[in-house]
Amino acid sequence: MTLSIVIPLYNEEENVPILYEKLKESLNPLKKEYEILFVDDGSTDRTLSILEEIQSKDNRVVVLSLRRNFGQTAAFAAGFDFARGDIVITMDGDLQNDPSDISKLLELTKDYDLVSGWRKKRKDPFFRRRLPSILANWLISNVTGVKLHDYGCSLKAYRRDVIKNLKIYGEMHRFIPAVASWYGVRVAEVEVAHRQRLKGRSKYGISRTIKVVLDLITVKFLQSFSTKPIQFFGPVGVMSGFLGFLISLYLSIDKIFFGRNIGGRPLLLLGVLLIIVGIQLIGMGLLGEMLVRVYHESQRKPTYVIKKILGP
Ligand code: UDP
Ligand code: MG
Repeated sequence: MTLSIVIPLYNEEENVPILYEKLKESLNPLKKEYEILFVDDGSTDRTLSILEEIQSKDNRVVVLSLRRNFGQTAAFAAGFDFARGDIVITMDGDLQNDPSDISKLLELTKDYDLVSGWRKKRKDPFFRRRLPSILANWLISNVTGVKLHDYGCSLKAYRRDVIKNLKIYGEMHRFIPAVASWYGVRVAEVEVAHRQRLKGRSKYGISRTIKVVLDLITVKFLQSFSTKPIQFFGPVGVMSGFLGFLISLYLSIDKIFFGRNIGGRPLLLLGVLLIIVGIQLIGMGLLGEMLVRVYHESQRKPTYVIKKILGP
């Protein structure tokens, strides 16, 4: 199998039939073996039954139906786990991405391991979507050190090994280029078309920005300290503990040698607090070290539950 197209779908009944036709139109001329993995992310409309009908007539289509709505990232993860292609392409199922761009991305996978789409002329509302996205892209580029114009674009192409060695959580599919690039994966960006959503409704609003920022903090922390949490918590803990010790020492000398009463002094409180915080932080670092070992050595646990799999 050369090509796997992974498409998460959540209540896209009006888009699925058109999407399927357009996909065939752009994939057949490529003269490559391909499969289309539709991941139904717990839709409550007719999406699944339409997919089932398509699958019954076309063996190149695989339908993964998730038990409930797990979110776009988990739907991608499910698709990745079942994809058999050497190249895996992801895109949205609402026709905002154009299937005819697939050939453009494929061309670049000859030289790169990951090709990310850039919706240069993005057709989304400015204040609700485009402005937060400009800020997010700037922030992600600077924090991760991997400069892309459009982290949020779903239309991406991956070489098989890139995604097979990756676990994604939360809203994290957008950080794959950054994480992959830290592992030495060659990343390219290419301009792609973007359309307005004509049918169905967008599943996201402004609140997504906060989730993305929190995920960015997690990703950055994991990058810098995931294998050495004691290095992160330890130094602060040692400093706090040492400062607390100095304060307590000073107070002790005052009491023992000069006989002054220190019971009511605010400084005493601070000294004790700093010592306790120091011990706590070092303890947290050690706990982190233990967690890291569990995290890396435990079995792989999927972030979704499969209800059924249709396909050849
Ligand atoms: N999607 C999904 N699960 C969700 C939310 C969205 O599988 O919980 C799918 C959705 O059906 C679409 C894609 O992810 O194919 C992008 O969603 P949407 O168009 O709502 O996002 P936007 O384009 O507004 O960022
Ligand atoms: Mg959309």
